[in-house]
Amino acid sequence: MKLLIGVLYTLLPELLLFCLAALLAGYAAGFPSGGVLALTLAAGAMLLTALALSLQFNRSRLFFALLTLCLAGTGLLLRAHAAPAGAATLDGMLCLLLPLDLVVFAGIAERGIFSRYGAIWFALLAAETLATLLLLAFSDTAVTSALHVRFTHAGWATALRITQPGLVVLTLGLLWLNDRLLGRHSAELAAFFFALVASVPMLYTPHPGVLSVFLAAAALGFGYAVIQESWSMAYLDELTGLQGRRALEEHMRQLGGRYVIAMVDVDHFKRFNDSYGHDVGDQVLRFVASRLAYQPHGGRPFRYGGEEFCLVFSGHGLAEVRDELEKLRSDIESCRFDLRRSGRRGDDVSEGAEVGSPGMLAITVSIGAAEYGAQFKEPWTVLKAADKALYDAKHSGRNRVSVNAG
Ligand code: GH3
Ligand code: MG
Ligand code: MG
Repeated sequence: MKLLIGVLYTLLPELLLFCLAALLAGYAAGFPSGGVLALTLAAGAMLLTALALSLQFNRSRLFFALLTLCLAGTGLLLRAHAAPAGAATLDGMLCLLLPLDLVVFAGIAERGIFSRYGAIWFALLAAETLATLLLLAFSDTAVTSALHVRFTHAGWATALRITQPGLVVLTLGLLWLNDRLLGRHSAELAAFFFALVASVPMLYTPHPGVLSVFLAAAALGFGYAVIQESWSMAYLDELTGLQGRRALEEHMRQLGGRYVIAMVDVDHFKRFNDSYGHDVGDQVLRFVASRLAYQPHGGRPFRYGGEEFCLVFSGHGLAEVRDELEKLRSDIESCRFDLRRSGRRGDDVSEGAEVGSPGMLAITVSIGAAEYGAQFKEPWTVLKAADKALYDAKHSGRNRVSVNAG
């Protein structure tokens, strides 16, 4: 269920965009020339806007993918007007380079646009453009036939009108991206996946209107990914994946009526760092965050800072939530963190292992909670009251839930 929600949340906007583009493309084929020109200009404007956004947020992978789309889009528009020999050369180069570049930029590490690494990608795109122009100028038939080489003469392969080297790159790229998307639900990967899917009709169609619709969809997809990734950077805590302090502050402003705030603090956390190193400390934080992530009473978890977390239960009172907090505390206490396996995703925790077994760490948390009421009327006052209860829990021996009834 968690996996499905994650996949839908990241893929749905891009999927809808692609479906909308496919629908619009059906109409675009029948547009008069004025409409086609308007579509082409709109696609150009969207590409430039998305390019400016990626530049603003210094997202090099998206920036170079968008630059690729700008260059390929120009090439594809020219292809429609070129003489047959030139069109064949352009076709061969674009069918190979568009999917290849998209796959390359989906795979590179995020290291900034105007950096040493960025220079490599600028040079790659410049070299590809230069090679295409030289091929067009000297119309080398041997290279053009190599670009159009056929591995199979099957009907489906020829009907697609995409060169077979291009088809091979496209298929491998889609399989690889699909595999990565299943492992990590990121808006950026989803945008790359759908741009690669959209490159099939872009390369296939000789119609500038249809081409513009898919270019615009890919540009919007990348633009959405820039915004989504920037939102994640601002609001999500990178280590635990929970929402961070900024998101909590925003959520606090919206609170009204009944609510409970609970502060959760890992007991003697410094010892994990001191005895086993910072990496194990980080794993412990991820483990605690994973236990906080799903609360039956709809408690929304945030990383407050360091080894402190905050749970906000909107629309509930302490009487309903208290048992929940006690269950959370005992749930964390009953798990053992397996040091020998730590670092391997998802399998570093065993339930019910003996305390003191070699390599097994016991983790406990202290929890302090307070609710909105006559005593505590403002969200930040409730949070302070919860913090005071946490302090009491620590001073009464840790590994317990304490409430501040005012
Ligand atoms: P107590 O039971 O009283 O809460 O003791 P404690 O050791 O948990 O609390 P203390 O405030 O003394 O230590 C918190 C430590 O958490 C200190 C800091 O180095 C560590 N820490 C803060 N943020 C991180 C992080 O992101 N990763 C890791 N590994 N350690 C962190
Ligand atoms: Mg602590
Ligand atoms: Mg603390």
